[in-house]
Amino acid sequence: MTETMLAERFHAADRSITLEDIPIPHPGPGEVLVKVAYCGICHSDLSLISGAFPAALPVVTQGHEASGTIVELGAGVIGWKEGDRVIPSAGRPCLKCRKCRRGAFTDCLDLNLMAFAYDGAWAEYHIAQASGMTKIPDNVPLDQAALLADAVSTPYAAVVRTGKVHMGNAVAVWGVGGVGTHLVQLAKLAGGVPVIAIDLNDAVLERAKRVGADHTLRSDDPELMQKIEDITHGRMIDVAFDAVGIKPTLRACVDSLDVDGKAVSVGLSAQDIDAGPFLNFNLQRKQVLGHLGYKSQDIALLAEMLSYHRLDLTESISKVIPLKDVESGIAELESHQGNPIRILVKP
Ligand SMILES: [Zn+2]
Ligand SMILES: [Zn+2]
Repeated sequence: MTETMLAERFHAADRSITLEDIPIPHPGPGEVLVKVAYCGICHSDLSLISGAFPAALPVVTQGHEASGTIVELGAGVIGWKEGDRVIPSAGRPCLKCRKCRRGAFTDCLDLNLMAFAYDGAWAEYHIAQASGMTKIPDNVPLDQAALLADAVSTPYAAVVRTGKVHMGNAVAVWGVGGVGTHLVQLAKLAGGVPVIAIDLNDAVLERAKRVGADHTLRSDDPELMQKIEDITHGRMIDVAFDAVGIKPTLRACVDSLDVDGKAVSVGLSAQDIDAGPFLNFNLQRKQVLGHLGYKSQDIALLAEMLSYHRLDLTESISKVIPLKDVESGIAELESHQGNPIRILVKP
């Protein structure tokens, strides 16, 4: 008799989700079986359900921001053992594209995404590829570790790789929801001074202040640009992040920049980018940079930051729910009820 486990299943035909008992999978060559400890609910999971992201499979287990413990090794797996605490990689390189052929697996052009192209971790067990996993330091709790895959690593890469924030840079973040809150924390950690959080919601601005924002401003303030000028003593902003991803927020980012400043677009929408008149843009040598994703090695680095207490993500765990309640967790994130950063599913 095959053993079974509880798993959430997304059905592409009618975009419905169900909770089902399905057989516990066994790891193939180069794979491991992970007993899932926690797995976050992310906006991209919602995008599959809403149809904004196309389905890659007729039926798939969702959830791609996981942590857990290895319970079984597949053939040929070296360097890992049962009992290791890990963060599974949220994507598998295709091994066929021109980047993969050159060995640049983290730049794969056709990444197979966890929870889209293969089963994710809103389930009691998850099959992960041994290569690309991150070992969690002993003193890092599994709930905070689950945040590192995507929820924290994407903002990290925006701050360090794309925005290249360094000591003394004046930083502004438009939109301090989940991504924006981590942008504030990481920009400050990278040496940003001052770090200004900007939003329409007073509750999330308060939270931004708690996690380290030096100043908070409302995006609908008619004096917004003047206030940024006052706060920075006329320097204006070196790196502005748009975590919202709509025309007016990116435009405000660009308008806030100092000469040679960078506006980094992290939020996504179907709208066009408006960077203002060519004359101002070119005269002040402004830049607009698009950002998506992270490299898997960024997760290991962030795990070290947690281990050395350089980063505190306790504020980021908004709620922990059992797997059977995943549907209500999805609804809460969708309605922004209580402004959650991450709701974690605990199978
Ligand atoms: Zn995600
Ligand atoms: Zn590839």
